[in-house]
Formats: sequence, structure tokens, C-alpha cells
Amino acid sequence: MKRTIPIDSPAGAAVAAHAKPSPGFDQQVIAALATLRAAAAEFPDGIVQATSLGAEDMVITDLIARHELPIAIGMLDTGQLHDETVALVERTQRHYGLRIEIWRPDAAAARNFVATHGADAMRQSVELRHACCALRKLEPLARMLEGRQGWVTGVRREQSQQRKQASLHERDLQGRAKWNPLIDWTLGNVWHYIRLHGVPYNPLHDRHFPSIGCSPCTRAVAVGEDFRAGRWWWENDGVKECGLHVERLARSPEAKEFQQRDIGKQP
Ligand code: SF4
Repeated sequence: MKRTIPIDSPAGAAVAAHAKPSPGFDQQVIAALATLRAAAAEFPDGIVQATSLGAEDMVITDLIARHELPIAIGMLDTGQLHDETVALVERTQRHYGLRIEIWRPDAAAARNFVATHGADAMRQSVELRHACCALRKLEPLARMLEGRQGWVTGVRREQSQQRKQASLHERDLQGRAKWNPLIDWTLGNVWHYIRLHGVPYNPLHDRHFPSIGCSPCTRAVAVGEDFRAGRWWWENDGVKECGLHVERLARSPEAKEFQQRDIGKQP
């Protein structure tokens, strides 16, 4: 497929392109809020939103902040994020007057990994890519979730083939509750909500990054390409996941090695 990435990308381009509400928009907002309220009521002070600061996660953060729900907000700073993503952390904190927990990989482990395999390890093999995701994402996520009873994500079924199997309420590998309040939302509804409420968002979305991960592993997508086509685009197996939401990858030997390490807590 020939990739044609539109070159004009003014601020607000993503809102202009995607904000198209479907008829059930209001009910979906009510349902998402009800899910968050029920989760918070079931486990008061025991759950966290694991945010990538992508568009869906910003909608969830807005619902949590707007309705003052007792749900913590945490993000994974892999050390490989785009400057725009890092800047959005502070922008979001200021906008809502809340604190976002920042969870980072073990510094020595990250240094050793790069020293052993090189800065471009993720391009050398799928195994090394999974190992990098395990080290920089899965292990810090495990610490974020330690001692918590549940977590909230922005997964939508529409996002990919793998995510079509996701449910509103799931159990993760540890049996912890996991909620995906936007599971049935369309992209149009996500962006309509962002426009309606002036939700801050990552300017990379205006530059044709529908899904935003680490800088070396994310690129803009062309017109007509899949939502997650810009993630690990050099791989052929079609599984555009790091293991946070796909159990098969989270169970990989590389992931297990890092998940089982006994590394001290950090904020
Ligand atoms: S997305 Fe890329 S840089 Fe980020 S943790 Fe995974 S392999 Fe490493």
C-alpha cells in the first residue's frame, strides 16, 4: 500500500477530522461515567487509571477529574516518549489541578539492556522488542498496580483485531479487576467528547498519529491505514501490542523475566 500522509497538520486538525458523534453519544458518556463510579465505589482508593495520555485516556482522565472520582492516575514514562507526550503530563496536571503518578523502568536494567543490545534493539528482532516493552512498560506497570485492586484503561474494540475481544469488565493475569469504560465508543465519539469539553490532548494526534507510544516505535499513519498501523510498523505478525492489554505477550518469557524481578517501588 502506498502511504500518503497529509502534510498539513494545523492545531486542531484531529478534532476537525474525527469529531463526529454517533446517535448514542450521550448514553455512552453516561454509561462510561457509571462504570467509573461503580469501579470507584467497589474499591475506594484502590484503583488507578493507567494512562498513555492518548485521546481515549484523556477522555477518561477528564471524566475522573470532572466528577472528582477517587481514582488515581498513573503513566509509564518509558524514557523513550515523544517530547509532546512528556509535555502533556504537566499540561494535564495544570489543567485539572491533579497529580499524575509517573512510573519509570529500573534505570540500571534499562542501561544494561541498551549497553548489551544497542539503542535500536527493538528493530533487531521481535524477541528483543518484547524484551524492551517488558522492561520499560510491563515491569513498571506491575509496580503501578501492586497493592491495587483494579485498573482502568482506554481500550476500545474498534482499535484493532486483537482488541475486538476486549470487554467492559475483565480480569488481568493476576486476577485484578480491569475496566475499559470506552470499550464500544467510536473514534468519532472520543473526539466529539474532546471538542465538547476542551480536553487537552497530544498535538501528535494533529500530525496523524492516532495511536502514540514510544518515539522509536511510533510513526504517523497514511490515509486509510489501521489505527495502530504506526506502531512497530516493521514487524509482520500484525500484533501491534506491547503486552499491556494482550495476555499472550504479557506471558512471553521476556515479559515474565522482568515482571518477576524484585525491584523496589518508586512513586
Ligand atoms: S514501544 Fe519501543 S521503545 Fe517503547 S518499550 Fe516497546 S520496544 Fe521499547
